[in-house]
Amino acid sequence: MNRRQAIKTTALATAACAAMLPSAGARQPAAPPAGSATVGPFRLPPLPYAFDALEPHIDAKTMEIHHNKHHQAYVDNLNKVIAAYPDLQKKSIEELEANLNGVPAEIRAAVQNQGGGHYNHSLFWQMMKKDGGGKPTGELASAMDKRFKNFVMFKLELVRAATGRFGSGWAWLVAGPARELFIESTANQDTPLSAGRTPLLGIDVWEHAYYLKYQNRRPDYIEAWFNVIDWDFVAERYQKAAA
Ligand code: MN
Repeated sequence: MNRRQAIKTTALATAACAAMLPSAGARQPAAPPAGSATVGPFRLPPLPYAFDALEPHIDAKTMEIHHNKHHQAYVDNLNKVIAAYPDLQKKSIEELEANLNGVPAEIRAAVQNQGGGHYNHSLFWQMMKKDGGGKPTGELASAMDKRFKNFVMFKLELVRAATGRFGSGWAWLVAGPARELFIESTANQDTPLSAGRTPLLGIDVWEHAYYLKYQNRRPDYIEAWFNVIDWDFVAERYQKAAA
């Protein structure tokens, strides 16, 4: 890592921590996984709460494996994929995923998969918190009511997208280029960012996100996940979404 990357990484980590402080309370950050010394610019961000913080909705073992193994693997693989591409190593994960056409064709699919995995999961941890759930407030709530009629209708549409995703992927609440809201689903680790949209809220429906506790009952996991959503974080992302 050169100095510029180090500064960028530190700045991003600091910003990420600062962004979480208002609602952090007495969070106990989970310890970083052992033996995860990757060579390359990207790093696994620390989980902003303990592995068991989202119990009983999402169990501690799932969180530990999901963060320390699955997310770490996306980070490690992304670093490997771009090891021979110094120009790409200078880019942020947002820059990479927002402009996949700028990535050489021979590694584009790998950056889409591994980089998308890193980006999506980095967001996912922050979209949840202990004692989350409830409903959005403020400008986001108004915009959602305008678009979906009410929270129940919004939830129905997101649940439909999440349960209807065949195989692995995500369901999202996104803001389009004019900040218009809609629900979409992406396959694998594809991210709405690559299609020019800002992901505000997303649920991982890969089996690794729920199988230990819910086995084949994806709908039960989705319903439980609504209890850990950090709507303050989502509202903040909506505020920052470029109009
Ligand atoms: Mn996942």
